[in-house]
Amino acid sequence: SSSQVTYDHIFKIILIGDNGVGKSSFIRRFCEGSYVANMETTVGVDFYLSEIDINGKKIKVKIWDTAGSEKYMSISAVYYRKADGVVFVFDVTKPRSFTNIETIWMNAVDAPESGCPEAIKLLVGNKCDLPAEVDLSQAKRYAELHDMLFLEASAKNNHNVRECFLHLAREICELK
Ligand code: GDP
Repeated sequence: SSSQVTYDHIFKIILIGDNGVGKSSFIRRFCEGSYVANMETTVGVDFYLSEIDINGKKIKVKIWDTAGSEKYMSISAVYYRKADGVVFVFDVTKPRSFTNIETIWMNAVDAPESGCPEAIKLLVGNKCDLPAEVDLSQAKRYAELHDMLFLEASAKNNHNVRECFLHLAREICELK
């Protein structure tokens, strides 16, 4: 068939955070509706596509996956380029993945040349189906300090995944 879908907007959203926090699982839960336990690191997949409706507007969301390159801190400027939204993801069972948001990932995003300082930000504590080792009230304070919303989520249990993308898309829409 040759049905053609037109969109009011196309948003680029990127997910940032340590290797293993669940970024790929999170994206696939949203875009494909599935969860694969013990998933191999995806290599070579650049982005996933989905569709969101905001106030009757058809939004196409292009979600970029780091495809394992964060392991080597080698995320290129291409990844950040013209991103409309950034999801900072940490693993609630791994305190280090939370402190790295501040010491590594926030700096990368805020870098004026190589980052995307204008993007709308969201902080996600993933794997909330497991007992948290991160002080989540501290995560909430950190988010408020950086003018972003904090949400606990679980790609595994499909908790707050769609809400994250809807929230970002709504905020981005308000700027367009
Ligand atoms: P990425 O490296 O950040 O893309 O992380 P992955 O999506 O590859 O996930 C790393 C591991 O964490 C995999 O074994 C996933 O099955 C697991 N995982 C991802 N999300 C969740 C979650 O919400 N809860 C639990 N318990 N495990 C998760």
